[in-house]
Amino acid sequence: RSKDAGGGTFHTYEPQLHVAAEERRVLEMALRQALTNGEMHLNYQPVVSAGTGGLMGFEALLRWSHPQLGNVSPAKFIPLAEDARMIAPIGEWVLRTACEEAARWANPVRVAVNVSPEQLHNPNFVTVVASALSNSGLPADRLELEVTESVFMKEGTCAVQVLEKILDLGVRLSLDDFGTGYSSLGYLSRTRFSSIKIDRSFVTQASKGVREAIAIIRAVVALAQSLDMATTAEGVETEAEHRMVQDLGCTKVQGYYFGRPLPVDEARALANRRYDDAAAA
Ligand code: C2E
Ligand code: MG
Ligand code: MG
Ligand code: MG
Repeated sequence: RSKDAGGGTFHTYEPQLHVAAEERRVLEMALRQALTNGEMHLNYQPVVSAGTGGLMGFEALLRWSHPQLGNVSPAKFIPLAEDARMIAPIGEWVLRTACEEAARWANPVRVAVNVSPEQLHNPNFVTVVASALSNSGLPADRLELEVTESVFMKEGTCAVQVLEKILDLGVRLSLDDFGTGYSSLGYLSRTRFSSIKIDRSFVTQASKGVREAIAIIRAVVALAQSLDMATTAEGVETEAEHRMVQDLGCTKVQGYYFGRPLPVDEARALANRRYDDAAAA
């Protein structure tokens, strides 16, 4: 934007900026009411073993459908909720709901919940996690929290200590969207992650034969193996991509090829069906 905004062309951008600001204002006002109006729900996307194809768990993904605005993408409203300091109550609702719903699945598959940096900069978040577990009855080892590298960028916060206390509860951590942030590998040795999620952009690039992307996936897999962590390839859309990430050594896969994010009833049916299969075998 900056390269076009110079000199005399600047004024032509004003109307657009105004529209964007107006849209933000409308979305933000609507977002403030979204939870109390019952407009939010969770979808669950299967995460499967790269080797066996067996169901390992689901990632809970937040959905917002507003009566007038329609379905708003989390890629849009999550950053807005973070900026407008609304992410803590929304994130708490996601966590409690995901734990309650996952506690009803017969098969002990995991549920992964995305957590925004802002939530981890608050020391009370540990209590929120503990109470989401005890209220739902979900065993701690069936909950996984997904955090992004940006958590470690802010100086002088309690985020690392909060993560330590969450680990002490028996909850797992995974590092989401790996490679898209300002990677500094130091924190990988300081915080105990169970898995690294390789961002979809690398999977897509690698499947097009981009050598750098393939090299990065290889390096991340090697790093994860030596640190005893799993690797999840995100955004696997085709059989060819599945084969590629499998060959590169990724241990788990997630993507439209294995399943889209599902409504809770379908996720429960899937979890329970796999359980029935296992019981019958
Ligand atoms: P994420 O955590 O990296 O989640 C994966 C995103 O990739 C999801 O988008 C999912 O629907 C999408 N995806 C999965 N497989 C495929 C595929 O094969 N192809 C393509 N094209 N996309 C695929 P979604 O649901 O739109 O969420 C976007 C982002 O919003 C998430 O990225 C996450 O960062 C954030 N988000 C979603 N729910 C929550 C939440 O409850 N709390 C927080 N803090 N962030 C959330
Ligand atoms: Mg995620
Ligand atoms: Mg991700
Ligand atoms: Mg991603």
